[in-house]
Amino acid sequence: MPQAESGSAVPNSAATLFIDGAWVPATAGGTRDITSPADGSPVATVAEATSDDTEHAIAAARRAFDEGSWANTSAWERGDLLLRVSDILVRDREEFARAESLDTGKRLVESGYDMDDIAGCFRYFGKLAGTDAGKLVDTGSPDAISRVQYEPVGVCGMITPWNFPLLQVAWKVAPAIAAGDTFVLKPSELTPSTAILLMRALAEAGLPAGVGNLVLGTGAEVGSVLAEHPDIDLVSFTGGLHTGRTISAAAAPTVKKVALELGGKNPNIVFADADFETAVDYALTAVFLHSGQVCSAGARLIVQDEIHDALVDEIVRRAETIRLGGPFDEDAETGPLISDGHLRKVTDYVERSVAEGAVLRTGGRRPDGERYARGHFFLPTVLDEVQRGSFAVTEESFGPVLTVERFTDEDDAVRIANDTHYGLAGGVFTGDPAKAQRVANRMRHGTIWINDFHPYLPQAEWGGFKQSGIGRELGRAGLGEYQEPKHVYQNLRPGPQHWFSGR
Ligand code: NAD
Repeated sequence: MPQAESGSAVPNSAATLFIDGAWVPATAGGTRDITSPADGSPVATVAEATSDDTEHAIAAARRAFDEGSWANTSAWERGDLLLRVSDILVRDREEFARAESLDTGKRLVESGYDMDDIAGCFRYFGKLAGTDAGKLVDTGSPDAISRVQYEPVGVCGMITPWNFPLLQVAWKVAPAIAAGDTFVLKPSELTPSTAILLMRALAEAGLPAGVGNLVLGTGAEVGSVLAEHPDIDLVSFTGGLHTGRTISAAAAPTVKKVALELGGKNPNIVFADADFETAVDYALTAVFLHSGQVCSAGARLIVQDEIHDALVDEIVRRAETIRLGGPFDEDAETGPLISDGHLRKVTDYVERSVAEGAVLRTGGRRPDGERYARGHFFLPTVLDEVQRGSFAVTEESFGPVLTVERFTDEDDAVRIANDTHYGLAGGVFTGDPAKAQRVANRMRHGTIWINDFHPYLPQAEWGGFKQSGIGRELGRAGLGEYQEPKHVYQNLRPGPQHWFSGR
């Protein structure tokens, strides 16, 4: 299995599906080569599953839920298992971070921070497990007791994207184990390596066979089966809006539970009374972190008229100093886009926005230089004077592209920030704390940062208003997604009720 030191995180072994406690190849023998987005070099060869493998994995998860010993574990035991996984993640941090960087092209230091967050997520749900066994409900009668208890939802299908590959997986796997569910995980076909390492860690921590299963493959071949299958009780998806709609529709005939974490076109409001240097600095991090491949990227700068020119000039100047590079380049500040297809999508997004009237202030193309020739690099880009309702404002580029709009006053800022079908996250920069609170309260987004951008806490719920999703991850509600509340009512003095006379 995976190696720590060589160039490759996962060896060229195609036995990388984990089904019913065993590492197996795809039944049809399919494999996929993973290459580095930074330079096209080979990273790994992994199994490429078909619907048959997916069926096997679902059957294993079903058996483990219905018949195995898992149902008899206490929440405390499951919590302990999660704490052991957290310890393994800390122990193997470098190996995990390296694998994540090889698959995504993300800087090694950033992958290391992601691994710290992931270990924290497992620790949080490890400690949360068993802290809420349910509640007694007042029946109004001394002759009856009534309680609500929280039970596992069943077999979960999990479908995740490539931008924060293991983080998105952790936000699903950790609460599912805490709740006592079993699962079939399908990570993005572009970035499978850390999911493989996680399954290895779960097995080492003592997860029983069949409880956690990993199926690598495409959305069409594997993901669609998870969405449709009658033996899946919950499908939890993180990814794009259009895929989310497809999954919702595929899940509807079986009326399974659906949890969706989708995209965003996230506003970052900067008032004229904000600290100028701070606002510039955070505006850059908000949108250009991980080259904009962040669902909560602050890609929509909404700036008060009187500071528009100075703020945008400074953002453009600073954007032009951002150093691009591969995951192991010491001087790089951000990396490539994930794939050639995504590079084309971002390029098209900029071209169409400019055709509709946006002013290209910087970027909008691949960087020059031999160093970037074999990677999917795209320059940090600023599109100024975008029009309300235009393509540039309403669509997510998911690349390093900042769009800029102006506002006049507080009401105007809120109206613009809410004028979107998305509602994932947003920021407000101002020197006036009361104004910050008023604006935060009026913004229809799942997370609001004031004078900051991008902190995520495992104990705080994460998710979207409107078309950014259904349900929440993290926090107590993030555990609740993987539970079914059950009401148990007991009559302590049973006897005939004589509702019907019997005559
Ligand atoms: P995507 O929707 O293309 O793919 C996500 C996953 O869905 C992949 O595993 C893919 O194989 C699978 N998939 C594709 N088609 C499918 C189908 N028909 N049935 C079942 N599964 C299918 O998204 P992506 O390009 O991997 O990720 C980028 C998107 O994810 C962006 O829109 C971003 O905003 C969003 N995202 C959201 C969050 C959040 O927390 N809200 C976090 C990260 C990413």
